[in-house]
Amino acid sequence: KAVVHRICSGQVIFDLSSAVKELVENSLDAGATSIEINLKDYGEEYFKVIDNGCGISPQNFQALALKHHTSKISDFSDLHSLTTFGFRGEALSSLCSLGNLTVETRTKNEPLGTHLIFDHSGLVTGERKIARQVGTTVTVGKLFSTLPVRSKEFSRNIRREYGKLVSLLNAYALIAKGVRFLCTNSTGKNAKSAVVKTQGSASLKDNIITVFGISTFTCLEPLNFSISEDFRVEGFLSKPRYGSGRTLGDRQYFFINGRPVDMPKVSKLVNELFRYSNSKQFPIAILNFTVPTTACDVNVSPDKRKIFFSDEGTLMLSLRAEIGKIYCPNEC
Ligand code: ADP
Ligand code: MG
Repeated sequence: KAVVHRICSGQVIFDLSSAVKELVENSLDAGATSIEINLKDYGEEYFKVIDNGCGISPQNFQALALKHHTSKISDFSDLHSLTTFGFRGEALSSLCSLGNLTVETRTKNEPLGTHLIFDHSGLVTGERKIARQVGTTVTVGKLFSTLPVRSKEFSRNIRREYGKLVSLLNAYALIAKGVRFLCTNSTGKNAKSAVVKTQGSASLKDNIITVFGISTFTCLEPLNFSISEDFRVEGFLSKPRYGSGRTLGDRQYFFINGRPVDMPKVSKLVNELFRYSNSKQFPIAILNFTVPTTACDVNVSPDKRKIFFSDEGTLMLSLRAEIGKIYCPNEC
C-alpha cells in the first residue's frame, strides 16, 4: 500500500516546481502576504516555504499529512465553486511519502509555535514547542529519495528543474497582488542569493515592472476586453515588432482567475499573430482570464495546470479578433 501511495504521489508531485507550487499555493490559501522560498543546492538537498499566513491549529496536526486531509472543502458541491488553490488534501501527504517533511507553525491563538516531524506514511513522529511568528514553514528534504530511479533523474536534471521553478515563481509574483515573494538559493559554501524578489505591488503592471524591469514594460501593450459580462481577458502583450527575442514561450504567462496555467493553444495563437509584425522573435504575453468557475474545469490534470473550457471556440475567436487588432490590423 505504501508503494502504491508513493507511485501515486509521484503523479501529483512529479518535479521540483510541482512540489514548491503546492506549498506556495497553501501559503496563498492561508492568506499570507509574505512568502519566502529557500533552496539548498537548487532544491536537491532541501526546499522550504516560509509564510506569514494563518498557521495550522493543533487539532489538525495529527491528520495534516494523511491522505485526503484538507480543511478547505466541507461538502462535495463546493468542488464547483472553488476559490482556494488546494482542496484535495494530497500535497502534504504526497510530499511526506516522497521526502522528509517537517512543519513549523503557529496560529494567532497559540502563544508558541510547534515543530512537527512526519514519517513517510504521514504520521507525526516528533513534536516540540518553538518560538515563532504566526505562520507556517514547510520543509521538504531529499525529495524523491524514496523513489531511487526518480531520485537519480532528479539530481541529473536539477539545474533544469530549478530553471522551471524560477519561472513558476515569477508567475506567482506577477499575478499575486499584495504578496511579497523572496526566493533564495544557497550552494556549497556560497551564501544564499536572491533569485526572485518582489515587493507585493497592488497591480499587474507594477508586478511586471518589479519582475522584468521598466524597460521590458515599456515594450508591452495592454490587452483588455470582455467576452461576456463575467468573462474578461486582461494583461499585456509585446508591442508589434518588439519581441522578447529568445526562445519560444519565453516570458509567456497565462492565468485563469489568478491561477498560473498552461495554455498552449493561446500561446500558439499569440505567436502566430505576432509573426505578422515580427517574423524573427516571439512575443511576451502575460494574460489573466477571469471566468466564472462553472465555465472551466481546472481539475483535469493532477497538477491543475491543464484547463478545460466549456466554450473554447468562442474564446479563441475573440482572442484572434482582439490580438489581431494589435498585430495585423489590415491582414488578419
Ligand atoms: P489542500 O491544500 O488540498 O487542503 P494540502 O495537503 O496541500 O491539502 O494541505 C493540507 C492542509 O494543511 C490544508 O487543508 C491546510 O489546512 C493545512 N496547510 C497546509 N499548508 C498550510 C499553510 N502554509 N498555512 C496554513 N495551513 C496549511
Ligand atoms: Mg494544498
